[in-house]
Order: sequence, then structure tokens, then C-alpha cells
Amino acid sequence: MCHHCGRSQHGMMFRVAKGQSTVRLCVRDAILYPPWIRNAVKTAIVVGTMLALINHGDAYWVKPWSAGLSLKTALTYCVPFAVSMLGALTASRINL
Ligand SMILES: [Zn+2]
Repeated sequence: MCHHCGRSQHGMMFRVAKGQSTVRLCVRDAILYPPWIRNAVKTAIVVGTMLALINHGDAYWVKPWSAGLSLKTALTYCVPFAVSMLGALTASRINL
């Protein structure tokens, strides 16, 4: 049973830290678990900035920015965010 919403889940469950012990969360509440989101945002800012500069660094100095560059930059930040979240979910998954 999910510690947050109380629903019993027949699918995937995840184990997260709660004080000195651990609790179980359903998929939805695990994805919305604030410490993982904070960590993923920090990772996205650091790694996303490095990736953006590596991949598109020259284009940022040419004005005006194209819509394509803005989209590519946004996607560049999404990649480390997704990797961080998937890593947290994979590492904490409980096989029932
Ligand atoms: Zn839940």
C-alpha cells in the first residue's frame, strides 16, 4: 500500500526514506517525491548547462536566437532531469 495516497497498488512500488525508516510509494507519488525532484532539478541545471554549452555554445553568441535553438536548449535540460529521475526510480523499485 502506498504511504502517501493509501491506494493499494498491484504494479510497481518504490521505497523511499522517511526519517530513520523507509516507506513505500506508488508510481505517481514516487515521480512526485519532492527530494527526487529537487535533486533532478539541480542535476539538470548543472549537467544541462554543460551539455548546452558543449552542443550549442557557438550558436548562443549569434543574435537572434532561432526557435530551434530555444527548443534544443530546453530539451538539453530535460535529458539530465529525466536521467536523474529514472535513476532514482530504478534504484528504489521494489519487485513484488
Ligand atoms: Zn500513492
